[in-house]
Amino acid sequence: MIPSIRGTRDILPAEVGRWQRVEGVARDLCARYGYAEVRTPVIEREELFAKGTGESTDIVQKEMYAFTDKGGDRITLRPEATPSMVRSFVEHALEQELPCAKLYSLGPMFRYERPQKGRYRQFHQLDIEVFGITDPAVDGEVIEMASALVTELGIEGAELVINSVGCAACRPRFTQALIDALGERVAELCGDCQRRSVTNPLRIFDCKVPADQPIIDQLPHSENFLCDACRGHFAEVRRHLEAYGLAYRVSHRLVRGLDYYTRTTFEILGTSLGAQNALLGGGRYDHLVKQLGGPDRPGIGFAAGLERLVLALPEGAGEMDVADAFVVALGDPSWSAARILARDLRRAGLTTLIDYEGRSSKSQMKRANRSRARHMLILGEDELATNQVTVKTMETGEQQTVARADLVAHLRAVRTD
Ligand code: AMP
Repeated sequence: MIPSIRGTRDILPAEVGRWQRVEGVARDLCARYGYAEVRTPVIEREELFAKGTGESTDIVQKEMYAFTDKGGDRITLRPEATPSMVRSFVEHALEQELPCAKLYSLGPMFRYERPQKGRYRQFHQLDIEVFGITDPAVDGEVIEMASALVTELGIEGAELVINSVGCAACRPRFTQALIDALGERVAELCGDCQRRSVTNPLRIFDCKVPADQPIIDQLPHSENFLCDACRGHFAEVRRHLEAYGLAYRVSHRLVRGLDYYTRTTFEILGTSLGAQNALLGGGRYDHLVKQLGGPDRPGIGFAAGLERLVLALPEGAGEMDVADAFVVALGDPSWSAARILARDLRRAGLTTLIDYEGRSSKSQMKRANRSRARHMLILGEDELATNQVTVKTMETGEQQTVARADLVAHLRAVRTD
C-alpha cells in the first residue's frame, strides 16, 4: 500500500456531506452578497507570493511548495489565494467588466506546516475579495458577511476580533516605537522574534512562545499610533459593526501573518477547535494591487478554512440524504423490469438503489435494510402482471401495492410529508 502524504487527507463519503453543506452555504452566501466566482490555477510563479504575501513571512520563507519545473521556471503550489486573485483581476482588467469587482474562489492551498488538528499541508479555503473601494462601509459589510457565514453554518460561540494596523504613513512610527520599547530585551526573545525584529517587527505579536509573552504584553499598541485618517477609518468600521449588532473584541495583537495588510484586520475564532482556532481571517490591503503591477486600487477580503468550518459544524449537519427507494427483483424474470423502474425513478428525481449480480431476493432485502432507504419496492411476477409495485415503508414495516403509474407521485408525497 502506498500511503497518502503527511498533512493531506481524503475526504471520505461519510464526511463529504458536511463539506457539501459548507461549500453550498458559502456559494449561496457569495451569490447573495454579489460576488462572482473566479477559478485560478493551483500553480503560480513563485515571485507572485514572494512579492504579494511577502518575502519576510513564514509562508514564503518556510512553507511554500516551490520547485523548478522542467522548463527551468520557478513555480509554487499556491499557499493562499489573495495574490492569485489580484493577479487575475489585473491580468484580465476585471474592473472594466465588473461594475464593482467582488470576487470569490474556493479551492485547495498548500503549506508545508507541522500538521495537527485543523492544520494540514493541503487545505481548502473560501476566499473573497473586493477591489476598488476605500469606504469603511465595505469593511463593515465584508466582516458582516464573514460573520453570516459562520452563523448560517450553525456554528455557535464564535468570536469576532478586529484591529487596525495603520497605513504606510503611520505604521513606520509604530514599528519604530516597537523597536524602541523592545530595546535590549530583543536578545531575550525567541529566535523567530529576533529575526522578526529586523525583518518585520509587527510580526512579533504572532509569537506563541510562552517565555516571550511577558515582554510582548508590554509592547505599545498599534491603535495609539494611527494617523488621523486611519483612526477615522477604524472608528467608522466599528460604527458599522455596531449598527449591524455584531459583538466584537479589539485585539492589538491581531497583526496577521501576511505583509500586505493596511488598516482593518479581523479574524473569527471558533471555540471547538483547540490551538488552531481561527475559522477565518482577513483584512484590507490598499497597496497590493499596485504592488503586483496593477492600477492603484484598494482591496479587502478574507479567507476561511473549510477544514475548520467542517470541524466546527454542529453534529448531524450535512448528513447524507437517505435514498427514496431500494428496488428488489423477485426472481430472474423481474430483473430487467426492476432496472427500468430504477432508471425511471432516477429520471424523476428520486434517489434509487438497486442490487447487481442476480442475488437472491433475501440477500437483496438485507442490502435494502442496510442502505436505510425509505422504501423497498418489490417487483415479482404478480406485480409485473398487474403493472403494480409492492411498496414497503421501512420505518413502519407497512406494505401496500401502488399502481406503477402512480408510483412517482406516491414516493414524492411521502418524501415531503
Ligand atoms: P491565512 O491565509 O493564514 O490568513 O488563513 C486563513 C484561514 O485559512 C485560517 O483562519 C484557517 O481557517 C485556514 N488555514 C490556514 N492555514 C491552514 C492550514 N495549514 N490548515 C488548515 N486551515 C488553514
